[in-house]
Amino acid sequence: MPKTRYIFITGGVLSSLGKGIAAASIGNILESYGYNISILKLDPYLNVDPGTMSPFQHGEVFVTEDGAETDLDLGHYERFTTTQTSQKSNWTAGRIYEKVILKERRGDYLGKTVQVIPHVTDEIKAAVFEVGKTADVVLIEIGGTVGDIESLPFLEAIRQIGLELDEAQVLYVHLTLVPFIKTAGELKTKPTQHSVKALQEIGIQPDILLCRAETPLPADIKKKIALFANLKEEAVVSAVDVETIYEIPLIYKKEGLGAIILKKLKLKDRQDDSLAWGKWVKLAKSLSKEVTIGIVGKYVKHSDAYKSLFEALFHAGVANHVRVRLNLIDSDNLADSDPGEALKNIQGILIPGGFGIRGIDGMLRAVEYARSQGVPFFGICLGMQVATVEFSRNVLGLPDAHSTEFDPQTGHKIFLKLKELKNIENMGHNMRLGSYSCILRKNSLAFKIYKQEKISERHRHRYEFNPEFEYMIENKGMRISGKNPERNLVEIVELSGHPWFLGCQFHPEFKSRPLQPHPLFVSFIEHAKRIKIKS
Ligand code: GLN
Repeated sequence: MPKTRYIFITGGVLSSLGKGIAAASIGNILESYGYNISILKLDPYLNVDPGTMSPFQHGEVFVTEDGAETDLDLGHYERFTTTQTSQKSNWTAGRIYEKVILKERRGDYLGKTVQVIPHVTDEIKAAVFEVGKTADVVLIEIGGTVGDIESLPFLEAIRQIGLELDEAQVLYVHLTLVPFIKTAGELKTKPTQHSVKALQEIGIQPDILLCRAETPLPADIKKKIALFANLKEEAVVSAVDVETIYEIPLIYKKEGLGAIILKKLKLKDRQDDSLAWGKWVKLAKSLSKEVTIGIVGKYVKHSDAYKSLFEALFHAGVANHVRVRLNLIDSDNLADSDPGEALKNIQGILIPGGFGIRGIDGMLRAVEYARSQGVPFFGICLGMQVATVEFSRNVLGLPDAHSTEFDPQTGHKIFLKLKELKNIENMGHNMRLGSYSCILRKNSLAFKIYKQEKISERHRHRYEFNPEFEYMIENKGMRISGKNPERNLVEIVELSGHPWFLGCQFHPEFKSRPLQPHPLFVSFIEHAKRIKIKS
């Protein structure tokens, strides 16, 4: 059996250079050459996972099939490649330390002093080797920037891996920035030189430098960087700014990144196949028509909070040959203003997921507007809950209807915590996380869209629809079109007689990929396209 290869991706100079997308793009390139890949993210912060962090701090929490709450970069990995990430694909320093401390408490270390080297570094190495069991190539992205105190144990662990394995089995790719300083009219290589030096000081010689720059690096700059970084010029690759992130694998390949990776890892180009991807990117870049979607949410000031959602809308737009223009509306601002004014040029309204009471009143007004004005409406998780509460208040005539998340004492509890629901015992975790199956009702909008009876989608929520109200909402025209068969939980609601109104308890955005756009998003955009803008 050929030996598994490991590519470590580190970042230098500053954060937000797009290391996650760089890692995902390398994965995409390797798959195009016919290799099986696995991707792992190592995050140096101390939270055990990002599940407890605010979306303003950390951006979106990406949920895997098996219910791990992970870094949003895992979303890029899934969208750029065919891999399925899992609990094994994201390790934080907190999770690594938790494991070490548990072992220490159990007495597993047999009286030894427990130390960063070797105990913490061994756990990091174990996480890397575990994820690579079935892959030809494993990509490991190290979060943070080289030079941070907290990333040191991770860098030490990956240095050791380089020492333990064969030379052609390990590759270190370092992403840096080559800024253009306007006043000097020059590209500056010094930050890259310093960052490479910092890596070398801890014993890692990068094999490839990916240099972010506004324009391709001229030959003399490449030469200079190569000299200072102790590399051949071919190992210095320009990573220029592009129109769409999905073009990055194609550009990297053109810049020679694919060829040099194959050469250094002694791998053959088994089948060059980036045709479908290339065609899709070409289409995505050529769209001239637009559709405007209003996102009424509470984290709109921090667009990373809705990463997968925006990507899913983009994929669905390409499938419909339209560019999706996003109008981000802070739901807080809708509470006391006329929603008709804020939403007048919008062809579809989407309320995404969220936690906590802030902004709920504005969302309720947006739903009322969409429902009564026949504007396509898509409610995701919290969006579905708010849509059902609005219906209960304004159509069933229950003005105090609410979720107990927002009003624990209300007389009409439309959504309840899972464990408060009768006949459903505590599932051990107080959130429903990961993939659950759902049976669709025949002749429903959902069934028409998915074209199959049984689907499965990913969840991340605490509250569920209260079955006591099922009959009442159905009787007044809100159909329950999808249910989880094991626990009889409501998964999808829709409105009869409305052009397109659907709320789902799950997060379909996590499963959308460029070449497999999610059917719910595709259908939503298709219907939004038909709405004429009132001017
Ligand atoms: N806050 C809601 C719940 O916990 C919705 C969560 C979400 O939108 N992801 O059920």
